[in-house]
Amino acid sequence: MFKITYFSFILLLIFFTISIGASRKDLFTDLRERMVTTQIIARGIKDPKVIEAMRKVPRHLFVPENIRGRAYDDRPLPIGEGQTISQPYIVAFMTEALNLSSGDKALEIGTGSGYQAAILAEIVKEVYTIEIRPRLGETARERLKEMGYKNIFVEIGDGYKGWPEKAPFNAIIVTCAPEKIPRPLIDQLAEGGRMIIPVGEEGSIQELVLMKKEKGMIIREEVMKVLFVPMITEEELKAR
Ligand code: SAH
Repeated sequence: MFKITYFSFILLLIFFTISIGASRKDLFTDLRERMVTTQIIARGIKDPKVIEAMRKVPRHLFVPENIRGRAYDDRPLPIGEGQTISQPYIVAFMTEALNLSSGDKALEIGTGSGYQAAILAEIVKEVYTIEIRPRLGETARERLKEMGYKNIFVEIGDGYKGWPEKAPFNAIIVTCAPEKIPRPLIDQLAEGGRMIIPVGEEGSIQELVLMKKEKGMIIREEVMKVLFVPMITEEELKAR
């Protein structure tokens, strides 16, 4: 009798653990679906590839465990070392602005959590991403590997120089703000390539700039006011 009760107790426990696990999973899927409807589609994002990627990538796995429940909120979130993962809408807006195709090769400066890189990797062929803070870069690399991404390459280093060995890129996205657009990044844009980059001083409102290289000429357009963490140099990182 005791054995049977004990056995059914264990069974019940297993059942509850599985169902709690499943409902948690559903909860995040629901939150993500709601995020896409109310923050992404309702605000005018139209590119089906971007919408699909935002629907697919589990954003809660890119933020610290204690704030997972807030991962789908309409705001940026801290990811450690004073850095942030951008608000979902900003990620979608910048990705859409790049007008990506499946054969594209993309470069990201500022890997952070790896979330933006994952969104890009759902759409393009290859994503090269550079992070200056070693711990963030290594964590993101490990996370993306565990999630099965084989088309994302994470480099620890200074994004000012770009990634000349892998250039040219069809799309470049910068997720930290320099005061001036780094020349090497413009040089590493392919013909017909697009770059989206916030430009401005630390802590003040910055301009989100969209650039296109057409017949060797650069076309520049300011598309939105934003606030990003600063793009820093290796010397500045050591001094901080
Ligand atoms: N795209 C990220 C968010 C990045 S926050 C995400 O999806 O989570 C901006 C990141 O840029 C920070 O992690 C910061 O360390 C990094 N960064 C700042 N200056 C840099 C530089 N010169 N080169 C590369 N990364 C830099």
